[in-house]
Amino acid sequence: MSNLQTLIDYQATDKTLLDIEKALAATEERKKYMQARKFLKGAQTTLDGYENKAVALAGDLSRLEKHYEEVAAELKEFSDVDFSELENSEGETAFFKKNAQALSDTLRSLKRDLISVKEKMEAVTKEYLDLKKKTLSMQKQFKEYKEKYAAVEQGRAAEVKEIRSKLAAMEKDIPADVLERYKSRRKEGLWPVIVPLKEKRCGFCRMELSNADNSKLNEKGAIECENCHRIIYKQ
Ligand SMILES: [Zn+2]
Repeated sequence: MSNLQTLIDYQATDKTLLDIEKALAATEERKKYMQARKFLKGAQTTLDGYENKAVALAGDLSRLEKHYEEVAAELKEFSDVDFSELENSEGETAFFKKNAQALSDTLRSLKRDLISVKEKMEAVTKEYLDLKKKTLSMQKQFKEYKEKYAAVEQGRAAEVKEIRSKLAAMEKDIPADVLERYKSRRKEGLWPVIVPLKEKRCGFCRMELSNADNSKLNEKGAIECENCHRIIYKQ
């Protein structure tokens, strides 16, 4: 199977590319670049969240303030009542005083709510500003390390280009469907993609082949492992 040998050689060449990819992924430049990128992706949503929270709290505050003013005005009417002028009985005076007391209790409770909402607003504002500050620093990191990483990548571009052209030349000798399967497995992060059969087992995950798979392998020269989805070939 010359196709098979080409595929084996192809994977060996591809391995040199994978090694470069791994080395690049492990650089400080790439890590800092990815860290900033990830942070910035999530930050906008969180910042929007804080804004929505602040808007909701501002609504609560203005409702509470309005209610407070209404109750305060009502209470003032009571305090303007001249009790000596009331024709009344003690019962009426007691009624007024009871109402005034209730209003003043409500005012106190509203005042507590107002303080609590204001504290929440301050906390949200602080969190928002902290995140904004961190976002600005991450934006700086993103820009800086994007450039630094691009330079690191550029440093290996010639090697990568050479390997890719070698691979492209080999691809002509590999059946399209096999190549497509190889590439999709490689993209999924499976490595190695093709493995030799070892003692009737998958050379990677060691799963034993069924008799049916064995005869299929003998017939076709290669099959896919049911367990790890690598391509098993017979040497
Ligand atoms: Zn396997």
